[in-house]
Amino acid sequence: MRNIIKTNLVPKGICLNFFGLFLTRDKSWIDKYIVNHERIHTAQQKEMLWIPFYIAYIIEWLFKLLKYRNSHRAYMDISFEREAYTHGHDLTYLTHRKHFAQWRR
Ligand SMILES: [Zn+2]
Repeated sequence: MRNIIKTNLVPKGICLNFFGLFLTRDKSWIDKYIVNHERIHTAQQKEMLWIPFYIAYIIEWLFKLLKYRNSHRAYMDISFEREAYTHGHDLTYLTHRKHFAQWRR
């Protein structure tokens, strides 16, 4: 995939979605499910007009960090991540995803 960028700027084992570019230190672990997870984030970013996504993401993570006092648990409970992890293995998900699905239950 053209939008997966190999860079040492990202910690090992992380894939960071930067405005639709997937930044990773090592491409070898990136499979179709990781790509789908990141594509879900790209859909979230587009409908939030990009920058507000990142602001909302960080604010939500900080609130969850205060709540749980555990960075991984806070990360996993961010609404954007919950949606991406819940549907990352459904490769057809983006064809029927509803707008702002991260906030629907
Ligand atoms: Zn994610």
